[in-house]
Amino acid sequence: MMGEGCWTEAMLQYGCASEICLCLGERETCCMVKLGSLLLARHHGRIVNSWALCHPSCHMGSKSAMSPALSHPADTQQQGILDELKMPFSHAAIGNFFQERPSLGNQFLEDALLQSYIKRHLPPQMVSEVSQDYIRFAQRLVEEIDSLGRDCELNLPRLQQYDAWGRRVDQIITCSAWKKMKEVSAEEGLVAEAYERRYSSWSRLIQVIKIYLYSPSAGLFTCPLAMTDGAAKVIESLGVPEPLQNAYNHLTSRNPSSFWTSGQWMTERRGGSDVAVGTETIAHRQEDGTYRLHGYKWFTSATDSDMSLTLGRVVDNHGNTVVGTKGLSLFYLEVRDAEGNLNGIEVQRLKEKLGTRQVPTAELLLDGVKALQISPEGRGVASISNMLTITRIHNTISAVAGMRRIINLARDYAAKRFVFGKLIKEHPLHIQTMARMEVEARGAFLFLMEISRLLGLEETNMATQQDQHLLRLLTPVAKLYTGKQALAVISEGLECFGGQGYMEDTGLPAMLRDAQVLTIWEGTTNILSLDVLRSVIKSNGKVLSAFFSTAQEKLDRASCVPSLSQAAKHTMKALNKLMAFTQEAGQLGGNYMELAARDFAYSLAKIYIGTLLLDHAAWEGASATDIYSAQRWSDQDLCPVDKAKASGCYDSESMSLDRQLVYDNSPLLKGKL
Ligand SMILES: Cc1cc2nc3c(=O)[nH]c(=O)nc-3n(C[C@H](O)[C@H](O)[C@H](O)COP(=O)(O)OP(=O)(O)OC[C@H]3O[C@@H](n4cnc5c(N)ncnc54)[C@H](O)[C@@H]3O)c2cc1C
Repeated sequence: MMGEGCWTEAMLQYGCASEICLCLGERETCCMVKLGSLLLARHHGRIVNSWALCHPSCHMGSKSAMSPALSHPADTQQQGILDELKMPFSHAAIGNFFQERPSLGNQFLEDALLQSYIKRHLPPQMVSEVSQDYIRFAQRLVEEIDSLGRDCELNLPRLQQYDAWGRRVDQIITCSAWKKMKEVSAEEGLVAEAYERRYSSWSRLIQVIKIYLYSPSAGLFTCPLAMTDGAAKVIESLGVPEPLQNAYNHLTSRNPSSFWTSGQWMTERRGGSDVAVGTETIAHRQEDGTYRLHGYKWFTSATDSDMSLTLGRVVDNHGNTVVGTKGLSLFYLEVRDAEGNLNGIEVQRLKEKLGTRQVPTAELLLDGVKALQISPEGRGVASISNMLTITRIHNTISAVAGMRRIINLARDYAAKRFVFGKLIKEHPLHIQTMARMEVEARGAFLFLMEISRLLGLEETNMATQQDQHLLRLLTPVAKLYTGKQALAVISEGLECFGGQGYMEDTGLPAMLRDAQVLTIWEGTTNILSLDVLRSVIKSNGKVLSAFFSTAQEKLDRASCVPSLSQAAKHTMKALNKLMAFTQEAGQLGGNYMELAARDFAYSLAKIYIGTLLLDHAAWEGASATDIYSAQRWSDQDLCPVDKAKASGCYDSESMSLDRQLVYDNSPLLKGKL
């Protein structure tokens, strides 16, 4: 057991005793030391915890951890402290130190990279106009929207299947905050902005930035917005045909009373990834040219939406359907009729989810749903792909925004939490941890800006072939990479709050639970990695040529800046390795590339983000932190596919060895290896 001397030593070691001596007189210090010893005797070896037990008195009188004990030496306070030391917690049942909570600041003004990005790329007049809107909106987030988002988390949607008299009603009941989010979305033009094209090719990027600010405060209303945006895009790409004009107007409205949201019903019991085989929904043509749909949709999010796009197989005159992708057509439907009755839909149940609970996600029986076929027969998957581009970009927005938000909250907290004698922002290791998170978030942010910029060009017919190829390649890469990184960064972010990061009522754990979906819906990491390969094959390698030449250009520019030349060199080396890999792997056949797909996609992501960070840092208006983050990014292995290839990870033996490893000792594969 430690004696008094050791206890004092321990306190000194933790940088606390000196602080006590400053805030208390010698006699009191002595009393404190004695108390410490007593506590220590009860809590063998748990010096820090014992200290924490008596520590409140050290901070007593200070309003927050921001103003440590140095500032309250008054006699009366000292007497109060002494009284409490004698009988800790006797008259204050729970003690009187309360940690100041992290607070949300203006997320636009706090985002240095966002501000410098728009300053660099947008015309000055546009910068000042949109900045004013962003500042106002970010303030609205602090004052109004963020707490609505929390309300959505606390007041979850529920399904009322029957009314009091036994009639089937299938009402999805959502809270008032969720409904208010719909109004906010319309008022703020969160979908409309992209389609009004007020800012020409920048309209898309300007919309994306606004959703990026909104997302972590939105109570997951960004989920219906993603699908609404996707549906508007599909309808627009079909040339807004007359029967869909009304729906398009609703989806892109700024008027809360006429704004509609849309669902996207693809996943069925047999598959969300494999919709070609998984889709069992059938469509019977009616005399008036409409269809009646029958099927079972296994995951339908934001099922309180006004309309949906869905896939089904048209039944021919002989009662047959075509199997596979070629049998799938795209349909438009309204969820309720003019009287508010469900359109041949039964809501079987709401899903019990890990996160995103604010969003009603349901299983639906389609029992004669009236629908319009909106794609040529058998072109359903091709037609809905426009929706997927948009929803994958929205997924990327949520991922990047989640990283940014947790970092901003954690850095605020680090300036309020006082441990081991100083604020945690004064502990270099903590700041290094946050700096690493920051580099990830910055890289992901620039990636998001890049695909939004490319999409904006495409939507205004200003994209070159190269831009279009890049957009096709990078959209799944950005979605898969940022989804995974968001989980890692947000998890690290929770740790930055210590135990409080794990407490539900701080609102922080929900960020991690919600982030998990980012890697699953709209395509899992593997499915998207295979989609990347598909884009390479379908374009005869043109998407890769666009990638290599764009990356090369950016690196050439950055290598002329002395502070960036080393990082540019390192990134160029990785790019060359990736080039060599693609040339070699092209000869090695399908299985090889399938095994390499995930590492390949990661290599594309890491290298491209590296070039974006370098490119931004090479701009004459770049800051020292822009340069530093580009340097830090390039420290890592940017081409994991090369390393894994060298160690034989994609060789044919690996396939069998991987299987043996996974099913080691399992009866599932006995005799089959
Ligand atoms: C909260 C939530 C909301 C959702 N909302 C909607 C919605 O609104 N509309 C909608 O249509 N869907 C929705 N989904 C469904 C979602 O899009 C699918 O779950 C997802 O696409 C995965 O499909 P699956 O569940 O069939 O998984 P599976 O396809 O069965 O995949 C299982 C695993 O196998 C892997 N895998 C599959 N095929 C391959 C392959 N060829 N190579 C390597 N690995 C492979 C996958 O990566 C995954 O890890 C939602 C899902 C969630 C969780």
